[in-house]
Amino acid sequence: MLGAGPAGLYFAILMKRADPRHEVRVFERNDPDATFGWGVVFSEGSLDELEHADHESYVAVTAACATWNPLDIRYRGTTTRVRGNAFSGIGRRRLLHVLQARARELGAELTFHHEVEGLGPYLDADLVVGADGANSLVRRELAAGVRPAVDHAPSRYAWFGADLAFPVFTYVFRETEWGLFQAHCYAYDESRSTMVLLIGDETWRLAGLDRLDEQGSLELCERVFAEDLCGHRMLSNRSLWISFPWIRCRSWHLDNVVLLGDAAHTAHWSIGSGTKLALEDAIALARAVAGHRYRLGPAFAEFELERQPAVERLQEASRVSCDYFQSLRRYFTFEPLQFAYQLMTRTPRIGHTNLTARDPDFVRRVEARFAERAGGRSAYAAPPPAFTPLRLRSVTIPNRLVFMGGPEDGAGLVISEPCAVSPEGRLTPETPVEPPPAPAGSLLCLRLGHAGRRGSCRPRRSGVDRPLPPAEAWPLVSASPIAHAPWMPAPRALDREGMERVRGDFAAAAGLAAGLGHRMLLLDFAHGSLLASFISPLANRRADEFGGGPEGRMRFPLAVAAMLRDHGADILLVLTGQTVAGSQPAYGRAYGVPYADRVRNEAGVATIAFGQIRTLDEVNTALAAGRADLCVLDR
Ligand SMILES: Cc1cc2nc3c(=O)[nH]c(=O)nc-3n(C[C@H](O)[C@H](O)[C@H](O)COP(=O)(O)OP(=O)(O)OC[C@H]3O[C@@H](n4cnc5c(N)ncnc54)[C@H](O)[C@@H]3O)c2cc1C
Repeated sequence: MLGAGPAGLYFAILMKRADPRHEVRVFERNDPDATFGWGVVFSEGSLDELEHADHESYVAVTAACATWNPLDIRYRGTTTRVRGNAFSGIGRRRLLHVLQARARELGAELTFHHEVEGLGPYLDADLVVGADGANSLVRRELAAGVRPAVDHAPSRYAWFGADLAFPVFTYVFRETEWGLFQAHCYAYDESRSTMVLLIGDETWRLAGLDRLDEQGSLELCERVFAEDLCGHRMLSNRSLWISFPWIRCRSWHLDNVVLLGDAAHTAHWSIGSGTKLALEDAIALARAVAGHRYRLGPAFAEFELERQPAVERLQEASRVSCDYFQSLRRYFTFEPLQFAYQLMTRTPRIGHTNLTARDPDFVRRVEARFAERAGGRSAYAAPPPAFTPLRLRSVTIPNRLVFMGGPEDGAGLVISEPCAVSPEGRLTPETPVEPPPAPAGSLLCLRLGHAGRRGSCRPRRSGVDRPLPPAEAWPLVSASPIAHAPWMPAPRALDREGMERVRGDFAAAAGLAAGLGHRMLLLDFAHGSLLASFISPLANRRADEFGGGPEGRMRFPLAVAAMLRDHGADILLVLTGQTVAGSQPAYGRAYGVPYADRVRNEAGVATIAFGQIRTLDEVNTALAAGRADLCVLDR
């Protein structure tokens, strides 16, 4: 074992348990008492696997853990408490001591102060385990076989301690003259806590932290968090400001060498799971090796098959969590209750229903406040966010569910099938050019568009982007003469006159729609349509004032919108992808919500979220967290 962190020590324990005759040697560069970092935290259930893998160390680890259930969010002078989050924390040194003692008790040989400088001297062992952490030398030596990829988060963090025990897990957000400082604080014994600090790169520079030494940085942070420290001190131990490294490897083994824990993969610390992953890796590897009677090829294959999907899921959740903490400045206008809700539901692992089970009182208060802001009265109990109305100027949408193309039952708003503003702007020969009359008593939002270079296609039932035979086709127009896909005809670039004509077509169609009783229009700026082709730099290569930077590319679409509505849109339906035929959007559960969130909270405009939102739980979560104002329910 190269490295005596949690992964290496735990694997040593399990191998000795499997057969005491195994000769297990662990090499570690540091002293047994030295460690970077302070305490680590485990969320509920994280340690369950340990109970069965090695009961003795499980009992010793859990006995040494501090546990708590609520968490506090300190934000803009307020503290919001959310209950139902069972966590436990343990000092990293304490954890390592427990594992060291257990490994020795079982007969593993631990050698400290031993720097591994290359794999060569160890390769005659039956099995070599690279458990040497995120900066793994073993990974570097195996690079050709394991194909690592490392990229860095664009923020800085530093792992400090404090000589007080925060009563519960506490998130602190402090605004300073240099920008936002955040601290994630948790006790790991009766009198000490971990404080992991996170700041943006710019804040780090503006605060002068790039020039301060460790002591200077400690003193500055003590001043920032003075109110939270209540006269206590922060502690540092190699507490350097670094960018979090995202590590992934295609494979985790080569010949008789295998990677474990952080050497193979990292998960952002803000979901507190790196140690859990390292320990679970050790369990899975030990099981696979014993199960395959020490034939390493099949054992490694099984180990990777079992672990890689689980690790990828957690890595993805931790990436979402990291993105959230790096961009939460955009939520600083939120009321404390909503800010706390947004933080709690930052990854898809916790949604509205789950949070209700954790802390029903907190969610009831969130719902009541949401309904109150939606125009209702303040009430002790209110409907879930999906069933509150939304008022947009003179229109009241009775609930927050949007259906595309019908049916109407249960919907607050139905968005019609696309209607073209001119024959030239049709997607297929079946696209209507005349708007249908607005059905009495229902909320139908009429979708008006011009298909641009994606037009003149066969109906969708024949496939997507399949051009009509030349005899039936009509000429296409776009921002630039670039085809949507190599197999589609090239469009003509619209000149000024053509643009005026298109503007006129939109105006005429809107006038017609108003005459037919429509109260809401959706203008299609998305999915490779004519107006979308002006916005995207992949489709717009114009040299005039309608091309170039974002301002130029937005000029024509905004001119069309402004003609219909003087003061901008009331709400934006945020659609992504399909701008060019070769795009590869990352579709997944509720994939569109983060885009709606970003538009809503950076541009300050109401949004409709779209993109595989399938459950009321996802709708309630997106709404209550202030990520969208309406949601298209995927059917
Ligand atoms: C700020 C921060 C907070 C975190 N908080 C949590 C948390 O709350 N909960 C959680 O579960 N996880 C947390 N983690 C993650 C956790 O610390 C790691 O995922 C975990 O320690 C990985 O264990 P490991 O054994 O794979 O590697 P490590 O713990 O890094 O151990 C690797 C060992 O190898 C040794 N080594 C390296 N190179 C050599 C060499 N060449 N020769 C000899 N020895 C060598 C090192 O000295 C070290 O002891 C956090 C991480 C960070 C950065």
